[in-house]
This record gives sequence, C-alpha cells and structure tokens, in this order.
Amino acid sequence: MGRIIAVANQKGGVGKTTTAINLSSCLAAKGKKILAVDMDPQGNMTSGLSVNKDEVEYTVYDLIIGEASIEQVLVKDVFENLDVLPTSIDLSAAEIELIDVDNKEYILRDEVHKIKDNYDFIIIDCPPSLSMLTINAMTTADTVLVPIQCEYYALEGLSQLIRTIDLVKERLNDRLEMEGVVFTMYDARTNLSLQVVENVKDNLNQAIYKTIIPRNIRLAEAPSHGLPINYYDPKSSGAESYMLLADEVIHKGEE
Ligand code: ADP
Ligand code: MG
Repeated sequence: MGRIIAVANQKGGVGKTTTAINLSSCLAAKGKKILAVDMDPQGNMTSGLSVNKDEVEYTVYDLIIGEASIEQVLVKDVFENLDVLPTSIDLSAAEIELIDVDNKEYILRDEVHKIKDNYDFIIIDCPPSLSMLTINAMTTADTVLVPIQCEYYALEGLSQLIRTIDLVKERLNDRLEMEGVVFTMYDARTNLSLQVVENVKDNLNQAIYKTIIPRNIRLAEAPSHGLPINYYDPKSSGAESYMLLADEVIHKGEE
C-alpha cells in the first residue's frame, strides 16, 4: 500500500535532502513505516540518517547495475520505523554504465515495487538534475514533492520541472501526479520570503502545502550529527514544521 513520493527539483540547495530526511523521520515518528531511498550520488540523505556510506557493503549503485538485491542493499531500523536504501558517489557513474541497458528508466521501480507493501511511505531524495537517476525516481513514484526555496528566482526552472513530470506521466508512468509544492527556508524577518510565497501562489497552478518550512539553523546543523531534526532538536521550529508537514502528507493520502 506504500505511497511513493519523489522529492525533486533540479535546482541545488533548495532543501530537497533536508525535506526528504526530515519528512521521512517525522512520518516514522508518527508510527508510519518508512523507506528512505537516496538517489543522489552525494549521499547526503544517507549520512544525514546516520548510515556510514563507507561501511555499508552494498548501495543503490549496486542495485541499479544489478549487482545486489534490494534486500542486500536495505539497511533496516536506522531509526524506529525507518529503513534506508543508502547510496555512495559510485552512483554518479551509473548513468554512463547503463547507456546500452534496455528499460533503464525502470530499474529502481522494478526493485522497490518488490518491497513497497512493507511500507506506508517511501520517500526518494533526487539529485539536482533531470538525469536518468531522477527519471528512475519518477517512474518509481506515485507523486513528486517539489521544495521551493524562498528566494529570488524561486520560479526559475519550475516550468521545465513540471514539463518533465508531465512527460514522464505521458510516456513512462501514468500513475505519476504532482504531490505539491513546499516552501523552504522561509525567513519571517524579510519581505522577500513573503513576496516569493505570494508570487508563487499567484503564478503556479499546483497544490501548495500549507506548512511552510522556516529557515532554522538547527536544520542545517542536524546532518553533521547524523540525526533527523526530531531527534536532534525536537523543540526547534524546524522540527515542529516538519512534523506539521508530515501530518499534511498523511491527511492528503487519506483524502
Ligand atoms: P538540496 O538537497 O535541494 O540541494 P539541501 O537540503 O541539501 O538542498 O539544503 C541546502 C543547504 O541548506 C544545506 O546546507 C542545508 O543544511 C540548508 N538548509 C536546508 N533547509 C534549511 C532550513 N529550513 N533552514 C536552514 N538551513 C537549511
Ligand atoms: Mg540534496
């Protein structure tokens, strides 16, 4: 029954990984069984969820090139209710290695769908590109969640992203829907953040989450401790907002 959400935006630094880590962890804290999938060769979701990239035997790279089974790659119970498919920098070579492989758009889907019924939600962190890795995430997913950073040029690249989602839906995965947009790094002290939110609301014809993620230094610190925000500082504004986002995501699924 698992609902599979790809967190995507080809812009870097907009809060994809922060959202993927903390949404996963907050959903798990609410009793949902979660699989977190790291599709970014940088592996920041992997390390942010306390998994040591250098110590795991197999990663998503081995899965994608067919050298390991999903059970071999799975790291179970890294936190309560939370399993991880870890990645490493090797994954950056997968695109080239798969050039001649048939159905390479569906490799992740075919593996993840074997175990998706074990989970309530599967959250996939995407790289900052519209590469084969992101396409694999989108063919696996039911929905795409798009973090938007509250800064100038917030809308830049969004029409390209939405076109890509439409194309994937048309040609590769007719289940795919837009989950919605979530604003990140909102700074209440500046007018700019407010203007960006208003501007995007006026110009983007997409579902927008009510929860807005504030700029919160604790969110930036937590990964260096290998902890999601609800473990690192549960009383922080970052933890509170990702908990609220988790509630909204759960309710949306029940609608
Ligand atoms: P992406 O995955 O889209 O590249 P990240 O989630 O890695 O973006 O975020 C980029 C940087 O901004 C990271 O250093 C992260 O710690 C920081 N960051 C993300 N969200 C917030 C936030 N709400 N408040 C403060 N810092 C944040
Ligand atoms: Mg990232």
